[in-house]
Amino acid sequence: MERKIQKIAVLTSGGDSPGMNAALRAVVRSAIYNSCECLAVYQGYQGLIDNDIRPINARGVNNIINKGGTILKSARCLEFRTKEGRQKAFDNLQKHQVDALVVIGGDGSFTGALIFSQEFNFPVIGIPGTIDNDIHGTRFTLGYDTALNTVVDAIDKIRDTASSHNRLFFVEVMGRDAGHIALNAGIGAGAEEVLIPEEDMGLNRLLDSLNRSKKSGKSSSIVVIAEGDKTGENVFEIAAYVEKNLPHYEVRVSVLGHMQRGGAPSCFDRVLASRMGVHAVESLLKGHDQMMVGIVDDRMVLHPLEDAIKGKTPINKNLIRVSDILSI
Ligand code: ADP
Repeated sequence: MERKIQKIAVLTSGGDSPGMNAALRAVVRSAIYNSCECLAVYQGYQGLIDNDIRPINARGVNNIINKGGTILKSARCLEFRTKEGRQKAFDNLQKHQVDALVVIGGDGSFTGALIFSQEFNFPVIGIPGTIDNDIHGTRFTLGYDTALNTVVDAIDKIRDTASSHNRLFFVEVMGRDAGHIALNAGIGAGAEEVLIPEEDMGLNRLLDSLNRSKKSGKSSSIVVIAEGDKTGENVFEIAAYVEKNLPHYEVRVSVLGHMQRGGAPSCFDRVLASRMGVHAVESLLKGHDQMMVGIVDDRMVLHPLEDAIKGKTPINKNLIRVSDILSI
């Protein structure tokens, strides 16, 4: 039987990403717009277990659309991986008479959400918040666009030094399993080469390519490497190998690290978060459950959570070709 949804709880979980606050704002305001009450859960699943759950109103999400991170805080919660932990979470939601839950997070958070929803027959909708853009069923995840802009901005600055000193820079960007950030930021920042987990280009091809660059008159170069690239153990190892084999290059390494996750969300991420938040609430009210909100061809869609956590969005292979052509 379809339950009438009158009270919606919302939490952020897993790695934070820019746009989570904008999504929270959209969930809270569209819930209230639709005559529902809204509750904020702090510290992700840990807050569900510890009963860190408080009412939130439309004014409670003032002035957050422009803020990175998450005002609800996020936490990794081991206890939620146990049946006992999830039972506590369910009991607390019952205590507050919550009818449905919106989870803003990545695939780990969605895995927990799905298990919880199946176990207790509790309606859940997910909003994909991760800078890696690696969740199946949505063209974009929240925070990805902001992270791309942050990375391009950082590489632009590194390029100033690279060209002033005739250096070869290896820039490591986030992306353990997915090369979306590396590939797109690489093209956007005009990198000579981009190394991503999806394509093992091999160190020899990298040497050939850098040799060609040198011969064609380039005195400095930028190579963008995703964390999860398979060419070498890590960016320092690759840099050392290249320096040994191409002694005419003065090599430097820059690991961008966590700065890629922070900062004010881009306008694109704010709009995406706003649309996703509204769609999440409207979908719950229509009786949808165990779904993730996504964007495909500029339309809001629902995608089963079960499928979203299984697959990855493949990289656009045409971008590799574009990158190769433009780095002559
Ligand atoms: P992300 O959502 O960014 O992928 P994590 O993988 O750290 O981040 O997952 C966030 C949280 O989701 C975990 O701390 C845990 O509480 C919950 N979670 C992840 N996987 C499971 C699982 N298999 N069962 C129950 N909860 C899970």
